[in-house]
Amino acid sequence: MNHEKRKLPIRYINHGLGFRYNDRIEINKRLLEHPKWYKFVLDHELNHTNKSWSLKDFILDLTDFDFGLFLWTLRTPSTWTQFSPYFINKKEKKIYINYNIVLLYIVFSFVLTMLYYI
Ligand SMILES: [Zn+2]
Repeated sequence: MNHEKRKLPIRYINHGLGFRYNDRIEINKRLLEHPKWYKFVLDHELNHTNKSWSLKDFILDLTDFDFGLFLWTLRTPSTWTQFSPYFINKKEKKIYINYNIVLLYIVFSFVLTMLYYI
């Protein structure tokens, strides 16, 4: 683990699961009730790079999966913004595009379309 990454401050927010920024990590404060998944999400965000998109980040989002956390996400509507293709940071007055989600949706709809035709 890169030591630089460990020094990122953590801010608690009330939506999504976790978001990685260049200067901080934001985590849904409800994850504090579930230490195991809190650690999973924090480790996940720490493993991301600072780039806005990279293959390494995409593969990380595609393969890093915890079934228990997934079920909890389905039951917890405040986390659903994690799967939005963009999100708005009100404080920074900035729109962030979640490129991995956009790419996932494109791949997913492509696969579904292929399945329809074969
Ligand atoms: Zn991720």
